[in-house]
Amino acid sequence: MEIIILVSILLFFVIVLGSIWWFNQKIKKLTERRVSIPINPDEKKEQLDTIHANEVPEEPYIRWTWDEYFIELVQVVGGRSTCDRGRSGAVITKNNRILSTGYVGSPAGLEHCDDIGHEFKKTVHGDGKISNHCVRTAHAEQNAIVQAARYGIVIDGSTLYCNMVPCYICAKLIINAGIKRVVARKDYHAADDTKRVFEEASIDFEILDKSVEEYGKQ
Ligand SMILES: [Zn+2]
Ligand SMILES: [Zn+2]
Repeated sequence: MEIIILVSILLFFVIVLGSIWWFNQKIKKLTERRVSIPINPDEKKEQLDTIHANEVPEEPYIRWTWDEYFIELVQVVGGRSTCDRGRSGAVITKNNRILSTGYVGSPAGLEHCDDIGHEFKKTVHGDGKISNHCVRTAHAEQNAIVQAARYGIVIDGSTLYCNMVPCYICAKLIINAGIKRVVARKDYHAADDTKRVFEEASIDFEILDKSVEEYGKQ
């Protein structure tokens, strides 16, 4: 009986001491691993500097201006247009952040020119010239403005980027929406009224590429 008790006590000590030893070994291993991670901030900075120095290109990159950036986005947005008589887009920004976008298209849910053809209307111009206009779509500038209205986004004091000088109707909407700056990629052949009202309303108006957008299908 005494021997059994003695063996049990011995076994107990062997198990306890063995566990302590095993646990110590584990801790030691973990600590060793931690030490191998570089924790010296100077050493780390040196490494980063080396990587950075290797990445500097020979020719410095000329970053796009904000105007170039947004006018490129106008092209991307216009890619969703649904009438081939004028695929274009508009982007409204404030403090260089995008507030709204719009592209030429039929009212939501209605059929598109690309699917069922255009809806022509004859327009008699001041000089007596007659042209055919497709009136099925809402213009990109109009859609950008109503998109903001739909979701309650304030566009007062904003900038509007568009593909070419907006038409007379869009120009009046732009003024009344409180848009203060308009940047167009190109000029438009029938833009006298727009230019006049923009000047009267003190809109900061800029055409990036002075060449006139040809609208051959009119
Ligand atoms: Zn059309
Ligand atoms: Zn328009």
